[in-house]
Amino acid sequence: MKKIYTHDNAFIVHNVKNLVEAQGIEVFLKNEFAQGAVGEVSAFDAWPELWVINDSDYDRALAVVNATQQAGTAADWVCDNCGEVNAASFDMCWQCQHDNHGN
Ligand SMILES: [Zn+2]
Repeated sequence: MKKIYTHDNAFIVHNVKNLVEAQGIEVFLKNEFAQGAVGEVSAFDAWPELWVINDSDYDRALAVVNATQQAGTAADWVCDNCGEVNAASFDMCWQCQHDNHGN
């Protein structure tokens, strides 16, 4: 197993997980439940980590991750609920989970 992605925002990690899984790659989340309730902040929280089950999927999974990161530079969208800038690969605002569909 290999780690392909980590971020302090569990919602973003979930988004990347969904995108990688959409390519038929088996992944699992580590530290998924390490963070406290929404809004709770602790310096000791472990970041959620995304791992591929099969090492042979690593390069492909990483390419998906890189694509999601680069997509943000091309077509960011601004949440009309909270004004946060989101990467194009995210269907929902990472800040407030407002749905971008319909924009
Ligand atoms: Zn928002």
